[in-house]
Order: sequence, then structure tokens, then C-alpha cells
Amino acid sequence: MLKKIDHLGIAVKSIDEARTYYEQVLGVACEKTEVVESQKVKTAFFSVGETHIELLEPTSPESPIAKFLENKGPGIHHIAYETDDIDAQLEKARKEGCRLIHETPIEGAGGKKVAFLHPKSSGGVLTEFCSKK
Ligand code: ZN
Repeated sequence: MLKKIDHLGIAVKSIDEARTYYEQVLGVACEKTEVVESQKVKTAFFSVGETHIELLEPTSPESPIAKFLENKGPGIHHIAYETDDIDAQLEKARKEGCRLIHETPIEGAGGKKVAFLHPKSSGGVLTEFCSKK
């Protein structure tokens, strides 16, 4: 079952430049930055109530975020839903004929289990499921 929108992923060219807007204009503090090797990204998390903003900066030209920036420029990259059972959520999506990017969950930021659905199966919105370990 989905619990809440955990975070919005936003692609940026530089976290150092982009964070000024969140910190100075919106007045939210950066909680942590982390490099996620599996996705070739550096992330920065900001809390807004129970929901987070995840800034994503590519660490390599092969990063999916580098490709996204090339094609679309900076902006909203994905929406992440927290689920209490990521395996069941993926199985349900698969049964409904949804294309999955990850057949089984991978390790994401904060040591969470994450998996992505293909945007072609989700109305053009890249969708992430995440669950606590
Ligand atoms: Zn995410």
C-alpha cells in the first residue's frame, strides 16, 4: 500500500548552485547530501513537512540524470511514493502490464529500497517506489 509522497526528484546541473533557491528563497535547510553510486548521482535532501525535495546532480556523463538534463533541461525528474511493501507494489504494477525499469528493488539514497516504473507506463511521469529497509 502507498503511504505518502515521499519526495519529488528534481534534476539540476549543480547542487551547489541550485540549493541557494531552496535555502534562501524557500527557507528550507539541506538535511544531507549523498552520492548514490548505483545511479551515478549526487543527491541533496530538503524537508518540507513529511515530504522531501531530492536534488539530483549527475556524477558522470553516463548518469541517467545527465541524459535527462541533455534532453529536457533542469526540472522535475520523478515522483516517489513510499510503500510499506515494495515487492508487492512492483508485482501489482507488473500484473497490470506496467513496464518496470527495475524488476527488483535496488539500494537508493538513505539506504532505502527503491525501484522505478517506466515513464511510458505511467503517463510520462517517472515513478519511484521506495520503502524503508
Ligand atoms: Zn528519488
